[in-house]
Amino acid sequence: MEFIRRSIVNLRRYPRRFHYCGLGHNYCTKKSEAESEEWPRRVITGLQPTGALHVGNYFGALRRCVQLQDAGEDLMIFIADLHSLTTHHNPQALRDNSLELAALVLAAGVDPERSVVFTQSAVPRHAELCWLLACLATQARLAHLPQYKEKAAALKEVPLGLLLYPVLQAADVLVYGATHVAVGADQAQHLQVAAQLVRTFRHRYGCQPFPTPRALLPGDDGSDRLRSLRDPSKKMSKSDPDPKSRILLTDSDDVIALKIRKAVTDFTPQVTYDPERRPGVASLVALHCLAGGLSAEEAVEAAGGLTTAQYKRLVARALAAELAPLRARAESLRAKPRLVRHVLRAGAARARRRADHVYARVAAAVGLLPPAR
Ligand code: AMP
Repeated sequence: MEFIRRSIVNLRRYPRRFHYCGLGHNYCTKKSEAESEEWPRRVITGLQPTGALHVGNYFGALRRCVQLQDAGEDLMIFIADLHSLTTHHNPQALRDNSLELAALVLAAGVDPERSVVFTQSAVPRHAELCWLLACLATQARLAHLPQYKEKAAALKEVPLGLLLYPVLQAADVLVYGATHVAVGADQAQHLQVAAQLVRTFRHRYGCQPFPTPRALLPGDDGSDRLRSLRDPSKKMSKSDPDPKSRILLTDSDDVIALKIRKAVTDFTPQVTYDPERRPGVASLVALHCLAGGLSAEEAVEAAGGLTTAQYKRLVARALAAELAPLRARAESLRAKPRLVRHVLRAGAARARRRADHVYARVAAAVGLLPPAR
């Protein structure tokens, strides 16, 4: 229970911390093109509260957040609940998923004292900036984006929110003057809309109240492309109809072992790492590497002499060892929803102060009168 005790102690310290962070203090000293004296390096990432999380979400998103935090980044993590409204949803499920995601973020090791954790909807500036940016975006450009076309094609009535989705994504980042967005390699294109809106804003209003955000891609450790256990040509996904295609963060050790045992491989018994010709076995090696902190060579060496069937047991044990502490911490946090809500409230207060700072400059540039005091 040390983790929970530490969280509570941290929460008691919040009032002082708000003030400190609200002044825009930055923990990180690394510099890149996107940052400057005016815009210190700040990393943001959003996670959608949809469905039960799997190991791909853990290695590709949650653990990455912890690594960024531990590297000293000024990190903001928001639960993208407004984005979840663009498709048909169940309000109670959205509430439950938001709390569950927050619990998992904390259970993974995100420290709410060092990183800002909050729900998007708790900071109204996201939606306000979205409107100002929507007035600069064109319908033709947004309707041309591949993700919109794909989703809209499947619907008879296309909600306007689906079209505006990338503008809200841009607002999510620009409203904090974030210099970097932690994304997977296949999501870097989403930042193009934000970059274009920054350019349009500069041309229209002759100033730039936010930096042009850049993608912060994961290292080449395979963490952003874990494959389905049933079809290694596909990414592991929450929406795959086959539950054995993914390992959930709530799965017990036995269920993990069962799903790994059923994972599709091939008829060659030796363990090698050859993603092109042996994608199923390569997926197991990738999981082993991520769970055990090994390189592909080290994982294959550890498998020396084992058949793929025996190797599956080794991978299942490594994965279970990595996930068991997370599962236990998540369980403790689920029993303390008030604590999780408190973390989110405190995070939102810090986020609001940061957003107000940027939004005031944007609103002034656009010509909006400051609100009466
Ligand atoms: P989702 O809610 O499924 O879009 O996933 C949220 C985040 O989890 C993504 O932005 C990725 O960073 C990560 N993620 C999702 N699926 C995978 C996967 N198969 N492998 C690695 N990371 C993933």
